[in-house]
Amino acid sequence: HFEGWPWHMIELPDDFSGKSLYFRIFSSAADIGLWGEVKLMERVELLKYIVNKSITDLLVTALSFLISLLALVFALVQENRRTFFLISFFTISSSFMLFAQTPVKQLLFNAPLFWDYVAATSYFVLPVAMAMLFDSWHKWQFSKIIKAIWKFHLAFAIVSISSSLAGIVELSSMYYLFDILFTISLLLLFIVIFTQFKSVRTELKVVFVAFALFNLFLLIDMGVAHNILPWTRMPIAIGLLIFSITMVSVSLKHIALVQLQLKELNETLEKKVEDRTEELKRIASTDPLTMLMNRRAFYIEAEHIFSKSKRYQRDTALLMLDIDLFKQFNDRYGHAVGDTILVSLSRCMEQVCRKTDLPARFGGEEFIILLEEADSEQAMFIAERLRQSISDIKLDQLSDEITVSIGVSVLQADTDTLDALIIQADKAMYKAKNKGRNKCQIAD
Ligand code: GH3
Ligand code: MG
Ligand code: MG
Repeated sequence: HFEGWPWHMIELPDDFSGKSLYFRIFSSAADIGLWGEVKLMERVELLKYIVNKSITDLLVTALSFLISLLALVFALVQENRRTFFLISFFTISSSFMLFAQTPVKQLLFNAPLFWDYVAATSYFVLPVAMAMLFDSWHKWQFSKIIKAIWKFHLAFAIVSISSSLAGIVELSSMYYLFDILFTISLLLLFIVIFTQFKSVRTELKVVFVAFALFNLFLLIDMGVAHNILPWTRMPIAIGLLIFSITMVSVSLKHIALVQLQLKELNETLEKKVEDRTEELKRIASTDPLTMLMNRRAFYIEAEHIFSKSKRYQRDTALLMLDIDLFKQFNDRYGHAVGDTILVSLSRCMEQVCRKTDLPARFGGEEFIILLEEADSEQAMFIAERLRQSISDIKLDQLSDEITVSIGVSVLQADTDTLDALIIQADKAMYKAKNKGRNKCQIAD
């Protein structure tokens, strides 16, 4: 009749004093686990002993459990779900394994066989979680081996636990088989890692070192359990904890890195979009032939200056230029030479203009300039200088002189709109044409 393992409390009858107590402790390595000790003690002493013995494992169990919850939360909110789910899977199975092996578990739920099954199941799935994690971390050269390892161990866990539940095999005897298979799997994993250790990321190298340490503990522990090595107690729990914490920190660091890269990429993209928008704006406001401001952009800029000048009653003037008999140039020299004239004239305008002036191509061979801080006298002076400079333009392809007619208007108290100012200059320009071209004319 099985009473309990690894510890069991017996209530003694009231009249036990003076009588002999007989215990029969049945032990076969396969039944009680692979090693054990026998102690007989009183209730309070026993409870103290159990708690003391379990304290490290309990702490590590609690920490592992916390880590697995943390990993689970990350798995739910992060992009690389798979790794975090697997870390959670690994840490949860290891915390179950640890807790199921602590003597204190029977205070929680007094069912030794149940805990045996929990311990066995979580121990048997440990390599499944490990191999899956390895598979998710890196594109291994021998990823088929890693995949085979987790699939095999998953099958082993299912078959061994269910056949043991069905009474076909004894659970404890499965440990022998499992330990052999686990050792082989660990060696295979080590070989795969070792052959590619140089090519993996630095953070992963750190994880592998922690993994190696943990596995060294596991292997020594197995060696002790099977009497291959002399009796020592390996701090499996600590090894597990180090491995779990390393995994989580490395994964978090990886997330931070990815986040940073995303942010940088975003910034670069934003900068590119900004630059491109600037470029598009520039293209949209520039006349492609003369590279002067086009009519649309001129209106936007000039409107701004006009309203300011009006408000503060500043002197402002406007020049309207039209090339004389331009059609004849085109007819005689061809359209290409006509274009060259337009470009040369634009450069000439830019040279004559001050920084604050606003020259633009208004249409075909018509140009416009808004002059800030210029009264009629100054405006006429600039117009005259411009007319002179244009007539001085010399082009190889051209023997004739290029002349322009310029109309000048100035902002007055009754000039209400920019358009009114433009119309005045335009009228003056036609007057100049009528007076024989190559002239500057101030508006009435
Ligand atoms: P006016 O002295 O009376 O202004 O005579 P005009 O020949 O300059 O006047 P008109 O308006 O009859 O002709 C303007 C010409 O300018 C007609 C058109 O072919 C030419 N033109 C307009 N835009 C361009 C251009 O971008 N390139 C070239 N090559 N010619 C252009
Ligand atoms: Mg014209
Ligand atoms: Mg013309």
